[in-house]
Amino acid sequence: MLGDVIRAVEEAESILLLSHINPDGDAIGSVYGFKKSLEALGKTVYAVTEEPLSDYFEMFRDDFIPFKEFQEEYDLAVALDTGDTKRLGKCFELFKGETAVIDHHETNEGYGKYNYIDGNSASCGEIIYDIIEDMNIILSPEAADGLYAALLTDTGGFIYSNTTAETHRKAARLIEAGADYVHINKKLMEEKSFEVHRITALCVENMEFFADGKICVVTLDNSFCEKNGITAESISGLAALPRTVSGVDTGVFISETVKGKTKVSLRSSEIVDAAEISVKFGGGGHLRAAGFTRED
Ligand code: 5GP
Ligand code: MN
Repeated sequence: MLGDVIRAVEEAESILLLSHINPDGDAIGSVYGFKKSLEALGKTVYAVTEEPLSDYFEMFRDDFIPFKEFQEEYDLAVALDTGDTKRLGKCFELFKGETAVIDHHETNEGYGKYNYIDGNSASCGEIIYDIIEDMNIILSPEAADGLYAALLTDTGGFIYSNTTAETHRKAARLIEAGADYVHINKKLMEEKSFEVHRITALCVENMEFFADGKICVVTLDNSFCEKNGITAESISGLAALPRTVSGVDTGVFISETVKGKTKVSLRSSEIVDAAEISVKFGGGGHLRAAGFTRED
């Protein structure tokens, strides 16, 4: 229930915010926006990630503490944008005592003491927006930056089918609140390092097609990754690439950047239920974007 989550947040003086491993723009943006908003109420807020954040998140990085450097006590731990406890990685160790879950993955079973899961929200950032409004917190430009980044990235730049009129309304209000949208759009959606462009080219060369061209698969096995210097970070924005080929309904992006650990990302347009397939393999996600990891 949303009311229970808000009450727990209001009662806590110190709050730890967590999100998923290999965080995306929704994970980092939601945490950052929530952190800035709760700090405005005078609360002590920590944001912890399993690993230090990459250059991609440079604009938010100063607010995040890597897991191995974190030693503080806190009244409440909140997991954002994280479909199950496995996705917390090492940070699961910190998810104890009073806990809350705020998420938009319909496959989330609610593993916190207090849970609010809304599968209709395109991003977790949209839910955080509602919570900030319900708590009567005035959006600062910094909080708006985070939430705008969350909405932007989880909708692929407002183009995926999860995008609604409400997403656009919230984005507009975040711009009015001072979100630096031109800079965020460029940094998170347009600009890519030459290294990522190089690896994108390798992925295109690697594409295989099935079912009359309706399925496109990219497979990067461990030896290919090692040979070509492909890391989890360098391919973190490429999962949607196979679906962008004309005629493809379902894109499958398979990578083994760590030997024996195969990550599968599914993206579909109209036919395949990506979440249903991913749940069968121990993962989860959304109707049109889901994934799972298999260990040999
Ligand atoms: P991606 O393919 O970009 O890693 O993830 C696509 C969507 O599926 C995201 O919403 C992500 O949270 C979810 N997802 C990916 N891998 C897993 C997994 O192993 N478990 C769960 N529960 N969800 C996943
Ligand atoms: Mn998300």
